[in-house]
Amino acid sequence: MKPWIVGNWKMNGSRKMVREYVPAFLDGLLESGELAARVHVALCPPFPYLGEMSSLLTSYPVRVGAQNVNQHENGYYTGEVSASMLSELGVTLCIVGHSERRHGHGESNALIGEKVKILLAGGIAPLVCIGETQAERDADDHQRVVEAQLESALQDLPAGAASEILIGYEPVWAIGTGVNATPEQAEEMHGHIRGWLTGRFGSGDGATIPILYGGSVTPENARALMSRPEVNGALVGGSSLKPEMLVSLLQQSLS
Ligand code: PEP
Repeated sequence: MKPWIVGNWKMNGSRKMVREYVPAFLDGLLESGELAARVHVALCPPFPYLGEMSSLLTSYPVRVGAQNVNQHENGYYTGEVSASMLSELGVTLCIVGHSERRHGHGESNALIGEKVKILLAGGIAPLVCIGETQAERDADDHQRVVEAQLESALQDLPAGAASEILIGYEPVWAIGTGVNATPEQAEEMHGHIRGWLTGRFGSGDGATIPILYGGSVTPENARALMSRPEVNGALVGGSSLKPEMLVSLLQQSLS
């Protein structure tokens, strides 16, 4: 499977950063033409920068992603952004269920399921984040937790949806902490998630859904994580904020 590298800027950046980052990143990515052809890449800046980033990336092999979406089509939802609005800005992928939204904004499994559906209806690929807390892992409950998250996020989907979905396994204890899951831990959980996906979608579709690992991925550890057969990509926060660091991470991932 062609791997994915998705950069999540979270609430970081500025217009200046977008304008400087994109050409520098493209230079690094395209310097080795072969690199760009071997990987799917997406960048997810904050909402206000999506339009400009899309314009700068038109005709380049880098997708623009959002970090959140509202579950409704439109209406009285002050401060929210709909899937069709994202689409107009050139967004083709959207992170949903990030732990910073589950834990910081009270997003439930059920709500994340609604967001997945509105994205699919709008032609935007949902990158569904799942993952356990440290306490859940310590209690040996991590597999049950991610199964419950998958169950809610991926129920009652339209036919063909499996080919649009991506999964991000992001153990909460690894996000922004500098402590990544070991390649063995990632491999084990990704294998478990793959088993769940093939059980739900069948051995054809279920085997093609990319499962990305996220949580303190850096240029230093990317190779060990990405060399695991069950790890189909990386969702990268802090290390995506500098173009040269993300390029180096890409190079390491594919080496
Ligand atoms: C993330 O934002 O999804 C993430 C994994 O962050 P970091 O790489 O900084 O841990």
